[in-house]
Amino acid sequence: MAKVKNVKIYKKRAIQLIRLAIELAKNNDVELARMYIKLAILYSRKIKFKIPLEYKRLFCRKCFTPLIVGLTERRRIKNKVLVRTCLYCGWTRRYKLQYQTTHKKSKS
Ligand SMILES: [Zn+2]
Repeated sequence: MAKVKNVKIYKKRAIQLIRLAIELAKNNDVELARMYIKLAILYSRKIKFKIPLEYKRLFCRKCFTPLIVGLTERRRIKNKVLVRTCLYCGWTRRYKLQYQTTHKKSKS
């Protein structure tokens, strides 16, 4: 039986792996970075926790390359839609841009 405590540890570890992967990608070590992302995803699947959305958006869902603008990712804004393209596999994702409202919660 998995303990709740372990979930927290693995979730923290997964986030650390994603952060590390981004640093590695910045240093052109994309292969290793991908392995770290895959490991983070493996943790989330096996231990059953969700990777926070802000971290999920940091890597390509198809080839697991950390997305860094100008390096591994291209961003274009067309008709208020943000188009993100992974330069490795051509994966694209569209985000509708919303005007920021005063209701936006600030997270520390
Ligand atoms: Zn990709």
